[in-house]
Parts: sequence; C-alpha cells; structure tokens
Amino acid sequence: MHHTPNASVDFHLHSTASDGELTPARVVALAAAAGVRQLALTDHDTMAGLAEARLASEAAGLELVDGVEISSLWASQDIHVVGLGVRSRDARLLERLASQAERRRQRAAAIGARLQKLGLEDPLQQAAELALRGLPARPHFAQVLVAQGRCRDRKQAFQQYLAQGKPAYVRTAWPELETAVRWIREAGGVAVLAHPGRYRLTRQKLRRLVQGFSAAGGQALEVSVSTHSPDMVKQLADLTVEFALYASQGSDYHGPSMRWVQVGRMPRLPSVCRPVTDLLAGRSRG
Ligand code: AMP
Ligand code: MN
Ligand code: MN
Ligand code: MN
Repeated sequence: MHHTPNASVDFHLHSTASDGELTPARVVALAAAAGVRQLALTDHDTMAGLAEARLASEAAGLELVDGVEISSLWASQDIHVVGLGVRSRDARLLERLASQAERRRQRAAAIGARLQKLGLEDPLQQAAELALRGLPARPHFAQVLVAQGRCRDRKQAFQQYLAQGKPAYVRTAWPELETAVRWIREAGGVAVLAHPGRYRLTRQKLRRLVQGFSAAGGQALEVSVSTHSPDMVKQLADLTVEFALYASQGSDYHGPSMRWVQVGRMPRLPSVCRPVTDLLAGRSRG
C-alpha cells in the first residue's frame, strides 16, 4: 500500500439512501475520523440522505456539500454525472429524480423477473430487503446471486448476470448526458463527470466524452478517484487543462465490504488542476 495522507475533501460518497451499506450519519462519522473536512453525499438519483448527512456534518463540524449522482446515457452507454452544491429542496430537481426512481422501480421489476426465470427464489423481494431505505439497485441483486449460491462474489455476479450484455441486464431509458447536466445546473449545482476512468473507453472516445460533456455545460471532471490509475489521473488532469474544466476528487465509497475503497482515500490532485472547491467557494449558498 502507498502512504499518501488522507484527503481533506471527499466529494463522492454513497449511503443506504442508494446502494451504500452505511447510513448517512455513519458515512459522515467515517469522514470525520478519516480527517475529511469537506464532503459530498452523492447517492444514485436521490437526495433522500442529505437531511441526515447535514445534521451529522453540523454536529461533527464538517462542511457538507449537497450532492447527487445522476444516471445518464451517452452513446448508448451508462455515464454518471455528479451534481455538487445542488439545492436539495429544488422542486424541479426533486420531480426529475422521482422520474429516475420510477425508472429504477421498473428496471428492478424487470431484473427480478429475469432472475426468477433463471431459477432464483424471490429475487425482487430479497433485493428490496437488502436495499434497506433505497430502491433495489444492481449491487443488491448481486448480493442475492451470491446469497443463493449462484456466484462467488458480487464482482462475478456482475460479470455473469448483471453487466451490459449479460442475461439479467436490463436496458434503462436514462436521460441523455446533456439532460443530466442541465438538471444539475438548473438546480444551482456544479456538474461533474463521475469516474471517467471507469467506462473502459479508448483515449480518443474518452476525449470525445469530455468534449461532449463540456459542450453540454459540464464544469468539472472527477480526476482523483480511488480506482483511477496514476496514468488515468494524468490523462484526466490534461483533459481538464485542454477543456478548461475544474477537477473534483472522491473515493466513491460504498461501504466496508469493498475493503479497497475507503472514505478520504484517493490519489492526490495533480498541481495543473483547478480544484472544484474553488468554483464552489465562489458561488453563493442556496
Ligand atoms: P445501478 O445504479 O443499479 O445500475 O448499479 C450500478 C452500481 O453497481 C454502481 O454504482 C456500482 O456501485 C456497482 N457496480 C457496477 N459495476 C460493478 C461491478 N463490476 N462489480 C461490482 N459492483 C459494480
Ligand atoms: Mn453504486
Ligand atoms: Mn458511479
Ligand atoms: Mn458513485
């Protein structure tokens, strides 16, 4: 393991409001213990965890930035856009996230039906129980596949059943990337392209994604993510310079069962980058 100190900023965290394993209050407590000073809770397509995260952050003396991670499509591929500093009570954004929740409900029912046909027992109901406060997402179905002995671990469950092209994969009509960016900006947020290194794009296609994201009004790239290689961090830092974008950083923490991802742990932001905290600090609070 490397010995870089923990970051003081972690702008990508999940809780039980979506597919995280810990409550918002527990995530905030972990952030405080890790020495994080500024954090964003960025659950998938929901802001339901933000009120609890705000109370816990105030009690712990941490600065919470209201966040969300929106599922979208670009070139028929799932792409995630993080919104930072969104207005958590914005009626229009809440309505738009309700439409995402409806897509998730329908998709969960369809995944459940596929898995039932493949011989699993009550997959939808079991995934719903694992989802605790949120809607069943693919990681919950992955857990069901492991629990019923179909797969060794969740990674294998994705590889064999849930990933794009596999038997329990269900295509979802997420909004286009530019729509997701617009939703965030219209709610006063900063639009950040989430973990660009995780989409398995060629260098050229990644550059086109960033170009399209920037043209749509996107403002920052998540350069420093726990799962990005040093080469990827460098490539993304260069893209922020080329397209005059800010740089964000986050662990994409989901809980203790993924032991290799920890709150506040990520590569250091290269010095050529303009940190997204500069952009957030220059805006008035909503
Ligand atoms: P969903 O939002 O329901 O489409 O589920 C996507 C989530 O599944 C991501 O946010 C990750 O948390 C998780 N995930 C995606 N791919 C994998 C994988 N190969 N192995 C484990 N978890 C994954
Ligand atoms: Mn997730
Ligand atoms: Mn994501
Ligand atoms: Mn995430």
